[in-house]
Amino acid sequence: MSGILCAIQLREAGFDDFAIYEKADRLGGTWRENTYPGIACDVPSHLYSYSFAPNPDWSHRFSPGAEIQAYFERVAREYGVEERIRFETEVTRCAFEDGRWHLELSDGTSDVADFVIAATGVLHHPKVPDLPGLESFAGAAFHSARWDHDVPLEGRRIGLVGTGSSAVQILPAIVQVGEAVTLFQRTAQWITPVENPAYDDAERRTFREHPEVMAGIRAEAARAFVDGFANVLVDATSPVLQLIQDTCVANLEDHVADPVLREKLRPDYRATCKRLVLSPNFYDAIQAPNARLVTESIERVEPAGVRTADGELHGLDVLVLATGFQVDAFVRPMRVFGRGGAALDEIWKSGPTAYMAMSVPDLPNFFFLNGPNGPVGNFSLIDVAERQIAYILQLAARVRDGEFREVCASSEAAARFDRERTEAARNTIWATGCRSWYLDEQGIPTAWPWSFDRFIEEMRTPRLEDYETR
Ligand code: NAP
Repeated sequence: MSGILCAIQLREAGFDDFAIYEKADRLGGTWRENTYPGIACDVPSHLYSYSFAPNPDWSHRFSPGAEIQAYFERVAREYGVEERIRFETEVTRCAFEDGRWHLELSDGTSDVADFVIAATGVLHHPKVPDLPGLESFAGAAFHSARWDHDVPLEGRRIGLVGTGSSAVQILPAIVQVGEAVTLFQRTAQWITPVENPAYDDAERRTFREHPEVMAGIRAEAARAFVDGFANVLVDATSPVLQLIQDTCVANLEDHVADPVLREKLRPDYRATCKRLVLSPNFYDAIQAPNARLVTESIERVEPAGVRTADGELHGLDVLVLATGFQVDAFVRPMRVFGRGGAALDEIWKSGPTAYMAMSVPDLPNFFFLNGPNGPVGNFSLIDVAERQIAYILQLAARVRDGEFREVCASSEAAARFDRERTEAARNTIWATGCRSWYLDEQGIPTAWPWSFDRFIEEMRTPRLEDYETR
């Protein structure tokens, strides 16, 4: 998503000498990798689109993953991006030597660049849990982001581990086909109800003929997300958070009939502490006659299924691990070396950080899109990346104009940013006592801890005094 965006915006700004390296044989990033049944984006489709490429053909308010993948493929084709992608070409090493970046590529070739933009994503490397005996399982086991479509689900006994946004989308899809589905829940989730109406032909015609209607939907959704969500998460005392919590509680009370099941599904932490899950049908799915919720912890996997701590063996044919991602990898496993051979792995030894989520001292002319400390959560990462690339291009233009040759955050600015964001993180809802992928190893939320409005402001113009230029 952000690589395609970057190419389009580079060209728009008059930079035409660029290449996109893609390790896979197809574009699409998260939408290429995640093909699990039920996959959709829980950001409204008219918001989860490039601002310059609205799509009148979205089928639903929250459209399915395959449609999103097709959208990115179409945009890349229409904007002439596809021919600039070097597929099946992984960047393995990237080193700043003699004032330029030297890239080593998996096909054995190399390249040289003045600027590098890492559009490598966040939720990228599957986290496969270290469950004893997993290798011994006689059925098929796979991670949600590595769905094996050759494995039939019809009439099978399926185990699903996890209750994050992925699992919550998977469960309603697989209870429709599996003979029996067991959901292994380590932590209950707050679920916000949403409706997902389909757009009909007349609406799609209106969108095509009156793009301003789509723009209106987009603006309204963006404002609602910012005011009613993004801006309130960073203030754990916000009364709006209580309203969100009340909505989630009512959803649980109103939609789960059995009191025992209801209590098992009731989280013991505040709503939005973990990434909020939106679902129109999770509670229906877990109450389906062929679904079962298991809250006993998993002791081990055996050839026949999963053994829980109470000694019960849950017989399974298929085991799906919707267990999330290694969120601290970012651009890695690419090896990055900045000025004087400074290794990114070393710079990040106590966790990934980047000034304004984009720049690291000693890595001149190297910028991240959706990098560490950026706004993540229930918001459109497209919008985030659009603002980031506009910011980066302002710096790139100054390099092109000869104002300076090299630019990266100064050590002082990066340290100050890190101090301030760590301090601000204490006030966020993410720090109120739950386990989530927003937290680093010290338990500090890593996401942008200020309002989204502040992010928008910061992204307008780089503060040049925070950069070291040469
Ligand atoms: P996740 O939110 O990290 O959830 C992982 C789940 O697996 C959690 O329920 C976790 O339990 C459980 N788990 C992990 N290891 C386990 C173990 N060893 N034993 C038992 N349970 C284990 O991952 P995700 O669901 O893939 O979602 C990741 C992020 O992707 C989301 O937060 C969201 O940002 C994004 N996403 C977005 C959409 C969308 O529609 N926009 C859809 C899917 C995903 P604990 O809670 O106890 O840790």
